[in-house]
Amino acid sequence: MVNLHKIKQEICEIGDRLYKKGFAAANDGNISYRISDKEVVCTPTQICKGFMKPDDLCVVDMEGNQISGRRKRTSEIKLHLAIMKERPEIKSVVHCHPPHATAFGIAREPVPQCVLPEVEVFLGDVPITKYATPGGEEFASTVLPFVHKTNVIILANHGTVSYGETVERAYWWTEILDAYCRMLMLARGLGRINYFTEPEARALLDLKQQWGFKDPRNELQNCDICANDVFRESWKASGVERHAFQPPESYRRQPAPNNPGNPASDAEALQATPEQEALIQAITDRVVAALKNRA
Ligand SMILES: [Zn+2]
Repeated sequence: MVNLHKIKQEICEIGDRLYKKGFAAANDGNISYRISDKEVVCTPTQICKGFMKPDDLCVVDMEGNQISGRRKRTSEIKLHLAIMKERPEIKSVVHCHPPHATAFGIAREPVPQCVLPEVEVFLGDVPITKYATPGGEEFASTVLPFVHKTNVIILANHGTVSYGETVERAYWWTEILDAYCRMLMLARGLGRINYFTEPEARALLDLKQQWGFKDPRNELQNCDICANDVFRESWKASGVERHAFQPPESYRRQPAPNNPGNPASDAEALQATPEQEALIQAITDRVVAALKNRA
């Protein structure tokens, strides 16, 4: 039997953390917890997540109809319920607008893998959904292609959603993702991103398996895990494309596993390595010099 008051207190605490981290401006974001097969406690609409009291929370059924609570339930509850219906073991869903992770959803830039150990172990490849107007069924269904393969999703031009067995766990995945996206932006500003080698990445995935976390990348056989994005097939439909972050070296050499006829990606296959660039530069310099001599 769940202690409803304790769950409500925990939701308020996590709401406070979301707000203080800057993940939910004004009345942004919403949090839910499944208290039984048929009931979910959730945050109300039009409330700042940093100042909620347990009494402010609502209870809805699995279709989103309000059962109790003096305030009206969040308009984004269908997103939470869609995830809970697909994943019976998931108890809590956290949705918010963390700026760094959301920036990747606005740029529709895939989050690079094989950079940070914590991200490899706790998150894995992070998908970006197709954009849909927030609130309705269509919006809720944008997460369905990914919901079994990850515990954190970036919502295109909107925010993030993460989920887990407890409210705090559900929140952690968002916090890890936003910190990572921020580090990536800072490192990129310094000029260079160093990726793990295949054995380094494989060691982290082995660790993940030992700890009992599932990762769809473990199903990839005989290929470089850093060279493969689990969600690459969804990129086209969602308008996701690499612009800011170059893929690891190995990515450019390998054909995609689901797409054996093609190189990893058309644009990336055409990108020159630093050695090739140096060669091109040397040839250009010689041609220019030769032309000058002639003139
Ligand atoms: Zn939102």
